[in-house]
Amino acid sequence: MIVDLRSDTLTKPTKEMLAVMASAEVGDDVFGEDPTVNLLERRMAELFDQEAGLFCASGTMANQLAIKAQTQPMDEIIAHELCHIYYYETAGYAYNSGVSIKLCKGKDGLISPEDILTNIQPDYDWLPKTSLVTIENTHNKAGGTCYDLSTMQAISKTCNNHNLKLHLDGARIWNAMVAKNYQPEDFGSLFDTISICFSKGMGAPVGSVLVGNAVTIKKARRIRKAFGGGMRQAGILAAACLYSMDHHYELLQKDHQRAQALGSIFEQQHWIASVSPISTNIVIFDIVDSLSPQKVLEKLSEIGIKMIQFGPQTIRCVTHLDITDEHIHYVEEKLKNLPL
Ligand SMILES: *Cc1c(COP(=O)(O)O)cnc(C)c1O
Repeated sequence: MIVDLRSDTLTKPTKEMLAVMASAEVGDDVFGEDPTVNLLERRMAELFDQEAGLFCASGTMANQLAIKAQTQPMDEIIAHELCHIYYYETAGYAYNSGVSIKLCKGKDGLISPEDILTNIQPDYDWLPKTSLVTIENTHNKAGGTCYDLSTMQAISKTCNNHNLKLHLDGARIWNAMVAKNYQPEDFGSLFDTISICFSKGMGAPVGSVLVGNAVTIKKARRIRKAFGGGMRQAGILAAACLYSMDHHYELLQKDHQRAQALGSIFEQQHWIASVSPISTNIVIFDIVDSLSPQKVLEKLSEIGIKMIQFGPQTIRCVTHLDITDEHIHYVEEKLKNLPL
């Protein structure tokens, strides 16, 4: 058995999902004529109480479009120091948009209105101009932590008061919705733009949707074309996203339960120093100083369990659609006699 816990991007489309993709009604989306893409974009805009949506090839593309559509060169964006936009998007904010980034420490991956206030640049010719705040919910690097609704409301208010745009990196927004039990209409309109991913826990092979007001999304559509992201019969992919909303969203709760179960198993291991609190589907733990993550990962891999290094002594696991109770049981049994 192979238990691949490296990422929730590893999920493969199910037979049922493939069948829906194969029979999707399609057209040329650059002409705006793909009915399935149009349906997905409309459905997401309505769900999150926004005017329009834009289907994108990746979460990174959706984030990059949001930054480019809402900043000018020489602007600055405010973000958490461990955020995906800073860490894992190849400095795309600088490359694509010509902006700098002001990183705040926050707490557990989450930033506060005070973090924003202390990082807004004063209005001088020699300083970048703060124009956009981005937050991540759930927060990947901090271990799947989620914002309270009240914090998102307060952040939105602060941004409004200071004329800053607010973007939500919602790579795992579905997980946050399940964990915090908020409805999309409760928080959707707090943001100027939201990137919503389908290719992680939701289990679609490809796709994110950027939602926002009509003007911003029209601008983002032009930029998407310039980035080479105008797709043609993309309805095949959009169909998988629609399917995931109808059939996989309700399974995320199970992923969270399995993450908790993994956490309890890890608590028992002598070679694990500490397990971080688990909020959603991400489990992060530190191994004891006498071992190296490379060695641990190698030993785990030999018995069919895959995880990834996430820091000098830190390892990450993620539960997802293709991880079952049997897999969790397998991990529990195998770790009983792991030769470490
Ligand atoms: C995965 C991820 C993204 C973007 O992912 P793609 O691989 O480009 O689809 C963006 N933000 C966060 C927090 C992520 O975890």
